[in-house]
Amino acid sequence: MKKVVLLIFVLLLLLACSKSKDETLEEIDPFIYRSGVLEDGETLANALMDEGLDNGMVYKLVNKLDSLYDLRHAHPNDSFTVKLDSFNIIHELSFKPNQIHNYRIIRDTSDVFYSQIDTLKLVKETSVVEGEIESSLWQAMSDEGIDAATIVMFTQIFQWDIDFFIDPQKGDKFHIVYEKNMDTDGNFVKAGNILAAKYSSKNYNDIAYRYTNKKNEIRYYDNKGICIQKAFLKSPLNYKRISSYFGNRYHPITKKVRFHNGVDYAASYGTPVEASADGTVIHRGWKGGHPTVNGQKGGYGKTIIVRHGNGYKTLYGHLSSYGKYKVGNRVKQHDVVGYVGSTGLSTGNHLHYTIYHRNKAINPLKLKNVSGPPVPKNEMEKFLSSIQSLQRYFISGATTDSNK
Ligand SMILES: [Zn+2]
Repeated sequence: MKKVVLLIFVLLLLLACSKSKDETLEEIDPFIYRSGVLEDGETLANALMDEGLDNGMVYKLVNKLDSLYDLRHAHPNDSFTVKLDSFNIIHELSFKPNQIHNYRIIRDTSDVFYSQIDTLKLVKETSVVEGEIESSLWQAMSDEGIDAATIVMFTQIFQWDIDFFIDPQKGDKFHIVYEKNMDTDGNFVKAGNILAAKYSSKNYNDIAYRYTNKKNEIRYYDNKGICIQKAFLKSPLNYKRISSYFGNRYHPITKKVRFHNGVDYAASYGTPVEASADGTVIHRGWKGGHPTVNGQKGGYGKTIIVRHGNGYKTLYGHLSSYGKYKVGNRVKQHDVVGYVGSTGLSTGNHLHYTIYHRNKAINPLKLKNVSGPPVPKNEMEKFLSSIQSLQRYFISGATTDSNK
């Protein structure tokens, strides 16, 4: 390290000498700069002392820096620079935990240290990219130069309709209008917002527009103001009452306290049961479990299971009969998947309803409602005019250079 610094110093001197032949009165920086990155488990103080700097001086500066940036949050690969004079006295310590901020402790002429935070000036740039899936969405988007954070945001917009781990097929298309934060030299620094996005497949074709409503909520809506980020229905049917809640309960048939992994809704025989969110039917048939008593089969009886995006599944049990959807069919929220009955281990007409997240039953009544309602009627005009400038990007053939 020292050799390299020395070499650079000599080179700089040579460069300075050769330059001095010119008429330019360029000032020669008399300081030496040493930069490095934190290694795994290394503190900034250790890293600086490893550079052979005076311990007392290092502690003083690092403490000062710590009041500017909490160094407990420092990570491996965060970078630092020290500015030294020829007596190895530190004149400045700067620390960059990210690309945007540079935390600096600077010695002024009277040997007093002051601190300063430099913030990189970012310029927003709008990008429009279209592509087609060969193997995966990730691959297709990366190939088009889209950054990882933006790809993740894209999948989050459509997560209620598309399970990006399973659904994408070769030939599916994406189209995205998004912001990039660049530095003033035009280098990409970090992802911005997705302003509009489109995904087209055999089963899906919709454009999502970003819009901040009057409540200051940012949502993605289709061109009619319907929220793309769909929630699960509060309940998948019109019920009379909740006859059993999620949690431990005394089972009327088994006469044991058992964990009830869903919610039971008492309802009339034949009441339509609706898919609580868009998804794909993955089970249609008799299902055990819930609980099986001494080998007695029964459980959920006639059951539908729907798989949704983002690791969610819903189960509808004790049905008297099924709707028209078969395994593999896509269902929309509100599509009738079955009718209330009392098949399986059941004491009366009711729907047993479970929501699974990553195969773990969660309480449907406590599920966070992730979607907003549609754009309110009194905001529609504002909404429509705000998406107008984005819509032109989706006229077929429109590309990045559509500047009209
Ligand atoms: Zn139940």
